[in-house]
Amino acid sequence: MTNIPHVLILGGGFGGLSAANELRNSLPSSEVKITVIDKKDWFMVGFAKLWIINGTRTFENSIGSLKELEKKEIDFVQDEVTSINLEDNNVETKSQKFSFDFLIISMGAVLAPQKIPGLEENGFNLYDHNHLSKIHDKLQHIESGKIAISIMGMPYKCPPAPFEASLLIDSMLRKRGVRNSVQIDFYSPAPITLPAAGPEVSKQILELVNSEKINFHNSSKIKSVEQNKLIFENSEADFDLLLAVPPHVAPKVIYDSGLAKDSGFIPIDRDCKTPFENVFAVGDVTSLTVAENMTVPKAGVFAEGEGVTVAKNIISKIQAKESSALFDGKGGCFIESGRDTASLIEVDMFTNDKPSTNLTESTSDNLSKKIEFEKERLSKWL
Ligand SMILES: Cc1cc2nc3c(=O)[nH]c(=O)nc-3n(C[C@H](O)[C@H](O)[C@H](O)COP(=O)(O)OP(=O)(O)OC[C@H]3O[C@@H](n4cnc5c(N)ncnc54)[C@H](O)[C@@H]3O)c2cc1C
Repeated sequence: MTNIPHVLILGGGFGGLSAANELRNSLPSSEVKITVIDKKDWFMVGFAKLWIINGTRTFENSIGSLKELEKKEIDFVQDEVTSINLEDNNVETKSQKFSFDFLIISMGAVLAPQKIPGLEENGFNLYDHNHLSKIHDKLQHIESGKIAISIMGMPYKCPPAPFEASLLIDSMLRKRGVRNSVQIDFYSPAPITLPAAGPEVSKQILELVNSEKINFHNSSKIKSVEQNKLIFENSEADFDLLLAVPPHVAPKVIYDSGLAKDSGFIPIDRDCKTPFENVFAVGDVTSLTVAENMTVPKAGVFAEGEGVTVAKNIISKIQAKESSALFDGKGGCFIESGRDTASLIEVDMFTNDKPSTNLTESTSDNLSKKIEFEKERLSKWL
């Protein structure tokens, strides 16, 4: 180890920013050097994408600049990571090479629409920031027809978000006075709305979307998309506007480095360690098993909690302490109703024998808390 240990963080999203800040808030720059590398120079809280779609936000007023990290003596490098060399403790980007004492991989999940034949030509990607204002325009002009929201792979980021999108779209169309002539269909490969939240919460979410006349079609496994047509394994469906959640994979460099196999994610435990000494992984790029057939959902709150866990473990190592922190598996995701209220899905994954979830009442107070959640992240991290 060099005199001042160097923590290299790949990805400045929820996981990377929470880890960087926890480290810097605990140790000054004389005790730890921190570098964050990201190919883009901005951060956005994921759910702001839905506000760009419904027109209450623009991209420009929803982002924070990663360059602000410099003010906290956290180095920020805007570049693409091209190689992770775990045997030699270094990482290469398109233009530089960085050595590290500790590595935190927080590179998120990559959207892979190309895995579904015909999707890129015939549908929009609900999660791609480049598609959001086009989706908004389409929703501002649609007068009649069918909107299809389709989940095309599991796991995907923030399981409630597409349901929330359907409710916000319902609300937009109601305000425009065209809702009665536009049908909204929701297709999921899963048998229930939110498998990660269990059958009880799933039933409540189903009732919520049904109460707004959004048709939920379960077990609809997509094969391909044609012009105005979804082809599922066992059926077909027409649409006029398709908003898809494409399959998610890890960044290519993760497979190249051998950290994950096939189209999977980096397997971790609650200490967020990888099999490589002083190499940690957090957030959407990982897979953390909770119970049989269940992993920690891909959500910002969990990436954040894992980022803090890793920071604590690195601080212990730097201070030559024995203690090892474990991710507590607690968090909550807001779900906006489209009627100026929100409920919160509360999750506790590890306290009891099996994960517990609870859906709170939909209130305007929860909607204020959701808005505050975003403000707080942007102001405390950047
Ligand atoms: C519409 C929507 C709504 C959501 N709502 C919620 C919500 O209400 N609550 C919640 O908790 N979560 C929500 N999420 C999910 C949340 O945004 C993600 O789970 C979270 O961002 C994951 O954090 P992360 O740090 O693992 O990855 P990310 O935040 O995705 O960060 C990964 C970073 O790595 C960078 N990167 C990737 N590859 C490279 C490379 N090769 N070189 C350099 N940089 C690279 C990326 O540019 C990115 O900045 C939502 C997501 C969406 C899309």
